[in-house]
Amino acid sequence: MNLLFPGSFDPPHLGHLDLITRGAALGGRLVVAVAVHPDKRGWLPVEHRVSLLRACCAHLARVEVATYQGATLHFARERHLDALLRGVRSAADLDHERAMAEHHRQLGLDTILLLAPGALAHLSSSFVRQVHAAGLGIEALVPPAVAAALTAPPP
Ligand code: ADP
Repeated sequence: MNLLFPGSFDPPHLGHLDLITRGAALGGRLVVAVAVHPDKRGWLPVEHRVSLLRACCAHLARVEVATYQGATLHFARERHLDALLRGVRSAADLDHERAMAEHHRQLGLDTILLLAPGALAHLSSSFVRQVHAAGLGIEALVPPAVAAALTAPPP
């Protein structure tokens, strides 16, 4: 089964990488796709998020990184992907993911939900951004490639 893992990944963190690693181990192709909202400026430029994701996933043979605009459903169809992959950290996440999953299921696209391991369940991109903004180290929160890129001294 070929899967699509859509998200903002702003920035990618260890919770995302855990999900990507486990999704890739399910056996098929896994497309990790940064959703682009032209009217919303994120924290990192989309191209930077893509290059960080590529660096984090370089060791995973069946993982591709892409971007898309518009409906996730249309992108999944275009790439011939069979189901969505999403993560669940909390009851709030589950409520949100359930609504999205039901919506997609009615349109013919199923969703696989994987539970975050306890040690990663507190992690979100916004938490990483807050820690970074406070000038604290993010090495324990993100893959080494992301920590290196975000803590590099200015040229
Ligand atoms: P975030 O919520 O960290 O900003 P995204 O919007 O990019 O991340 O979310 C993309 C997907 O990754 C969602 O399904 C979300 O539930 C999942 N995800 C985010 N953080 C984690 C985590 N710590 N563990 C498992 N899944 C996660």
